[in-house]
Parts: sequence; structure tokens; C-alpha cells
Amino acid sequence: MADLILFWHRRDLRLGDNLGLTAARERSAQVVGVFCLDPAILQGKDMAPARVAYMIGCLADLQHRYTQAGGQLLILQGDPRQQIPALAQALGTAAVYWNRDVEPYSRQRDKAVVEALKTVGVGFETVFWDQLLHAPGDVLTGSGQPYTVYGPFWKNWQRQAKQSPLPTPQGLQGLSATQQQAAQAVGCVPLPSAQDLGFLWDKGFPVEPGEQAALARLASFCDDDRRIGTYDDQRNFPAVEGTSGLSAALKFGAIGIRTLWAAAAEAYDRGRSDEARSNVQTWQQELAWREFYQHVLYFFPELADGPYRPQWKDFPWENNPDHFAAWCEGRTGYPIVDAAMRQLRETGWMHNRCRMIVASFLTKDLIINWQWGEQYFMQNLVDGDLAANNGGWQWSASSGMDPKPLRIFNPASQAQKFDPDADYIRQWVPELKSLDTQVLVTGKIPAQVCRRIGYPVPIVDHKVQQAIFKDKYKAQKGA
Ligand SMILES: Cc1cc2nc3c(=O)[nH]c(=O)nc-3n(C[C@H](O)[C@H](O)[C@H](O)COP(=O)(O)OP(=O)(O)OC[C@H]3O[C@@H](n4cnc5c(N)ncnc54)[C@H](O)[C@@H]3O)c2cc1C
Repeated sequence: MADLILFWHRRDLRLGDNLGLTAARERSAQVVGVFCLDPAILQGKDMAPARVAYMIGCLADLQHRYTQAGGQLLILQGDPRQQIPALAQALGTAAVYWNRDVEPYSRQRDKAVVEALKTVGVGFETVFWDQLLHAPGDVLTGSGQPYTVYGPFWKNWQRQAKQSPLPTPQGLQGLSATQQQAAQAVGCVPLPSAQDLGFLWDKGFPVEPGEQAALARLASFCDDDRRIGTYDDQRNFPAVEGTSGLSAALKFGAIGIRTLWAAAAEAYDRGRSDEARSNVQTWQQELAWREFYQHVLYFFPELADGPYRPQWKDFPWENNPDHFAAWCEGRTGYPIVDAAMRQLRETGWMHNRCRMIVASFLTKDLIINWQWGEQYFMQNLVDGDLAANNGGWQWSASSGMDPKPLRIFNPASQAQKFDPDADYIRQWVPELKSLDTQVLVTGKIPAQVCRRIGYPVPIVDHKVQQAIFKDKYKAQKGA
């Protein structure tokens, strides 16, 4: 009988192009997958129904793929610090393998699991940086420090050789009958639905859950030169499907990052003009932003709890709860902001341009602490990811590492530039459908029209708020 290896899946819900899983399969054919539904995460204050539903969909797909490959995926429910070692011990496991993560909670949890495995005499292998093209520490400044600015990080990161995708492991073996009984005895359960876990989501996803769907989406995006080859021109227009829609798949690892990079590199090589290649490179730069934020979270875990810039820690936010509620509900009276917030509520996803617009509006116009927005995003986004979300919010709030700190978006100019026909506004704010495009993009809707159609007048004046914010900012900088 081969050694039994447990492979603990976390944010790598796939078989193909999986570093840790491939290493486990190289050691033994009896590789059994396990996923632990952790109440500390699921019952935390930051869980989004869309994200749980997407994750459960990915787990169902993964279970199916394991069965097809001759193996199996077990599901545990409880604290992984106890559950994983208990299962490993009960099954007579030779070693538990898993891929590493950058988040502070995951790192502490993993340390505790390692200690518990040592106590019960089970081996472990945890050196794999599966979710990144380059591990934290592999891309450092000339003086060996982590980068805090994206530009030089990208220059160095893109120069480094990238690993090719790994094939899907074949010929897996599941548990013996005795091991199966032992797994049940320690509490392995059938995969619950999102609803069983208390999360109701029936509104669909930007990309269907699972490995096949993510691969199909990547193919349709990268093989079609009208998609990736026009990314730079299209990506800022929220009414256009100009981006890949792969963020949830990347968050849960339904697709491997090496697979994404290889597809982009192929599109780059195929590019017939400098312009086409430059469009592909812009998409590659977004993948590098994702890695940049994961690297900085790894090296500066304190980012998860507050602003990077010290003078931001006691910024005099106004934090008006009525304004916050209006922002969350898409009732600010600023059409582009309301369209974006309603897109988030309706779909669990928001276009990147609009994430920047609403984040700027919350912090610079409503003068509300960016951490309120950060949390609301986590409670709603299907792709909610600590590193990317925190990075995006700190960038928007001017509290982060970005060298150009004071950035204020004017909602009207943003709408005029990026939703010039007001298609996006009309799609998500249907009560505005019949109004003139010019009125919608400038946001200058007469008060009597607002009353007639039941749409709010602007809750604040952008010009006034901008001036107030700038004063506070100046005072804080000098403080
Ligand atoms: C305030 C704010 C909050 C955000 N919160 C999240 C979040 O919780 N989770 C998340 O995945 N992204 C977040 N982003 C980044 C970005 O908005 C999304 O990754 C993007 O909209 C996802 O759409 P897509 O998959 O079609 O992206 P594409 O344009 O196709 O980009 C490909 C991939 O690159 C990565 N990426 C793209 N832009 C960024 C970026 N600016 N920062 C980090 N990674 C990026 C994503 O993994 C994305 O799937 C946030 C941005 C802002 C401004």
C-alpha cells in the first residue's frame, strides 16, 4: 500500500497546475484531498453570500474531478487546527501537504497546524507558493528590501523567468474501507450547500464555479485577440465586457496563475503589432498588481488592520452613518456611484473603474473611513480578497504606499469619460433610464425630476466636500 498523503486545499480549488498537489502525487498515488470549512472564516464579519456560494460550487466541481481521477475529496467542518491533525492521525497519514498563503490569519493558523502535526507524529510539506508566480522574497529591491512602490516592483517582477503550468495529476487512489470509516468517525461530512451554511445567493456569478469554467473563460479571453488584444482600450468602460472576469477564480484558485501567465505570454507572442502586444502587457501588469499586493501584505501584515501612512491613523473622518447607508444602497444622487453600488448588490462583482470611483467618493466626498468601505466590499464581493481589497482601498484613500497620495475622482468627469453614453448608469439605475445622457453623465438632474422619479438629490456637493477634504488632509499632513 502506498503512503497516504492528505492534500489540504484552501485557496487552490483545482487539480491542474497545482504545485503542492503535484508534489504530493510525485511522492505517492494515494493522495486524498481535504477541505476544512472553518467557522472562524465563515462566521466572521466579512463573509459575502456570493463568495461562499462560489466557493461551494468550486468544491463540488473539485469533488467531481477527484472522483474522475480515481481519488476523493473529504470535507471537514470545524477548526482546522484540531480537525486536520485529528484526521491525519486517524487515517495513518504519512504527511499533510498544502500550499502557502500570505494572509496573517492563514499564516498563524498554518503554524498552529504544523505544531499539532508534530505532536501527533505526522509529517508535513508546506513550501509551495502556488498562488503566485514569484514568492514573497523572490522579488526584492537592490538592497534586499521588499518593494513598497508598484512601478519598480513590476520592472523587476516581469524580468524574472516564469514557471510553466503543471499537468493535472493522474491515477489517484482514494481511501480504503477502513480508512473511510476512520474519516467518518473524526467528522468528515458531505459537502453542504451555501444555504446550509446560512448564506443565500441565487444571482449567478461573473464566471461559473470550478476549474473547467475558469479555463474556458481564460481561453475565450486570451485566444480572442479582440478581448486581450484590446484590453487597454476597453478595460475602463464598465458598460463593456472588456476584462477577463477571472477574479473570483483567482481568489479561490479555480485556475492556476502559471496557466494564466502562459496564456497571456502566448497572446503576447501572437500579437501582430506593438499596440496589440502593449494591450496584452497591460493585462499582465494587472496580474502583477495582484502579486504586488500579496507581497506587501506578507511583509507588512499590519496593513490588514489600518493605514500604511502613520498620519492617517487618526484622520478626522466624518463617518456620517446616513451617508454610509446611502452609499451602500446606491442612493447618493450621483448616478455613476449609485450604478456601481447597485451592480455590487445585484451581482456580487463591480467593475474596477467603478471600484475606484466609489472608493474615492466614500473617502473624499463623504469623508468616511476607508475601512468601512473595505469591510462592506468584503461582505459583498464574490472575489473579496484581503490583499487586493485592502490594497485597492488604501490606494483610493491615499493612505497606502502609492507615491502619489492625494487623488480625488470627480464622479461627473469619470462618468463623462468612461460611461459616455450612460449605458452603465441606465443598466443599474433603471429609474434614470429615460433621462438625457448629458444629464446622467454630468449628474445634473433637476430636483423636481428627482422627486418625480423617486431618485435622491445629491446627498453632498462634490466641490464643497473636496475643499473640506483637502483642508483636513493638509492639516493632517502637517500634524
Ligand atoms: C477599492 C478596490 C477594491 C478591490 N477589491 C478587490 C478584491 O477584493 N479582490 C480582487 O480580486 N480585486 C480587487 N480589486 C481589484 C480589481 O478591481 C479586480 O481585481 C478586478 O475588477 C476584477 O475583474 P477582472 O477579473 O475582470 O479583472 P482583469 O482586469 O481581467 O484582471 C485580471 C486579474 O488581475 C487581478 N487584478 C486586476 N486589477 C487588480 C488590482 N487593481 N489589484 C489587484 N489585483 C488586480 C485580478 O486577480 C484580476 O482577476 C479592487 C480594486 C479596488 C480599487
